[in-house]
Amino acid sequence: MLAKICILAICCIAATQSLNIISRAGWGARPAKWASNNLAVNPPSHVAIHHGDSPSCYNKAACTSRVKSYQDWHMDGNGWNDIGYNFVVGEDGNVYEGQGWGKHGAHAVPLNRMSIGICVIGSFNGAAPNAAAQKAVQELIAYGVSNGKIQTNYKLVGHRQVDNTDCPGTAFYNVIKGWKNWSANP
Ligand SMILES: [Zn+2]
Repeated sequence: MLAKICILAICCIAATQSLNIISRAGWGARPAKWASNNLAVNPPSHVAIHHGDSPSCYNKAACTSRVKSYQDWHMDGNGWNDIGYNFVVGEDGNVYEGQGWGKHGAHAVPLNRMSIGICVIGSFNGAAPNAAAQKAVQELIAYGVSNGKIQTNYKLVGHRQVDNTDCPGTAFYNVIKGWKNWSANP
């Protein structure tokens, strides 16, 4: 009897611990050069999906290195205050905190003031992100909605819908068009 209870408890723990958000400190983020503004529309009305247009990564060490490279490019190459995305997701299944919740990021110009920008590490024109990354993105959005960080009737859009870019890659874009709350009219 005891053994059965333990097995059930393990199942419950496994089911609720799948979303793993690694804090800025956890991946060794550089401090922002200056503080970001809060979102003008908060909780935000939109979720914007991106790809990083970089090689993929499949473990925490490699994904951490990629997130750092994105931050370096945004701060040193683009001259921004910080990494532009609110969150970055790897095909290791982890979520890496960027600007985080409630902040005006730099990722999809017409939507920055009213959206959370989520970028999956990799380049997804030919093939979509793996199941672990897709699950992490969807669970992050669900967490945001459940915790008042994203409006319940949010619009999900791909970056290419609001700017002249192929982001988040054709294969990934075709996937997110089937996700809950995807909107043809950003
Ligand atoms: Zn993008």
